[in-house]
Amino acid sequence: MQTQILEPDGGSLALAAKIIKSGGLVAFPTETVYGLGANAFDGDAVHSIYEVKGRPQDNPLIVHVHKDYDISGIVCDIPEYAKKLAEKYLPGPLTMVFRSKGAVSPAVSCGLDTVGIRVPSHPQAQAFLRCVDLPIAAPSANVSKHVSPVTARHVYADLNGRIPLILDGGKCAGGIESTVLDCTGAVPCILRSGLVTREMIAEVAGDCGVFVPRPGEKVRSPGMKYKHYSPDCRTMLFTYADRAAAYGEYERLNGEGQRAYLMCDDAVAAEFLPDNLLALGKTPEQIAANLYDKLREGERKADVIIAVAPERQDGVMAGVMNRLTKACGG
Ligand code: AMP
Ligand code: MG
Repeated sequence: MQTQILEPDGGSLALAAKIIKSGGLVAFPTETVYGLGANAFDGDAVHSIYEVKGRPQDNPLIVHVHKDYDISGIVCDIPEYAKKLAEKYLPGPLTMVFRSKGAVSPAVSCGLDTVGIRVPSHPQAQAFLRCVDLPIAAPSANVSKHVSPVTARHVYADLNGRIPLILDGGKCAGGIESTVLDCTGAVPCILRSGLVTREMIAEVAGDCGVFVPRPGEKVRSPGMKYKHYSPDCRTMLFTYADRAAAYGEYERLNGEGQRAYLMCDDAVAAEFLPDNLLALGKTPEQIAANLYDKLREGERKADVIIAVAPERQDGVMAGVMNRLTKACGG
C-alpha cells in the first residue's frame, strides 16, 4: 500500500472521508498528537487499527467527534459536572469517559461498558471530523509502544505502507496526549494526566480525583499499564535533585565513546552546557510540546538518552512526568 501525505484541503478531506466510509484508516493532526482514525461504528475498520499499530487488544480507543456532533446516540448518564467541563474546556485536549449505549463497535472499548469521547480543537481535525460526520475511533498514529507522533513525518516513519493517507497539519502544538477523565462517578477522576490539569478540572467540577492503582487492583484505564512512548535507544531518567549525577553519567559515557545525549529543560541545560543536548524548553507548555519530538530526535542521534526530570511536577508537568517515566522504561 502506498501512503500519501496531503495537506488538508477540499480534495484531500473528501478523499479522507471516502477512505473512512469504505472501512479504511486515515491519520490526522490534533492539538495533542497525530491520531489514526477509523469509523467507530465499523468493527472491521476498528480491528484494523489494532493490527496496523500492533496494539494490545485490551487497550480501548478514544472516540473523536466534531463540536456539533450529537453524542447522545453513543453515550448516556452524562453528569452535570461533565456538562460544565465540556462548556469550559471543549473543544480541547480532554477525553471524557461515559457509559456506552453500545452503538459504537465493541472493539472500541475492548469489552468495557464505557466509551471515551474527545472533541479536538485543532481546526484541521475539526474539518476532517465534520467532513466525515461519523464518530472516529483513534489512538495515537504510532506503532504501539513507540513515541507518539507530533508531525506527519513521525507518522510516516512508523506507518509507511500500512495506511493510505496522512493528513499533514504541521507540528502538533500540545505535544502530549489528552487528559482522560472518568465521568461515570459522582466525582470526576483522572485516568491519564494531560494538558487539562487536575487543578483546572477541580476549579469547574468542585473536586477531582486521580486514579492510582493499588497493587493487585484492576487498572481502570487499560492503556496505562503498558510500556509506552519509548524511543528505540537506551534511556535513563534522573530526578532534578540528581541532575549532577546525570551529567556525570553523560560525561562518563561520552568518554567511553558512546553517544550520550542529555535531555533536560533550559534551566538544567544552562547549568551544564552539554554539547549533546536535547533541549525541552523553558515553560511546562514548551516542555510538553517538545517532549516526543526530542525523544524521536534522540533515538536518531544517540546511543543513550539521559533525561533529567524538571524541578516542578504539578499541573501540566504531571502529564509530562507520566510520559517521561514510561518512555524511560517505567
Ligand atoms: P491512546 O489512544 O494511545 O491515546 O490511548 C488512549 C487512552 O485512553 C488509553 O490509556 C486507554 O486506556 C484510555 N481509554 C480509552 N477509552 C477508555 C475507557 N472507556 N475507559 C478507560 N480508559 C479509556
Ligand atoms: Mg498512544
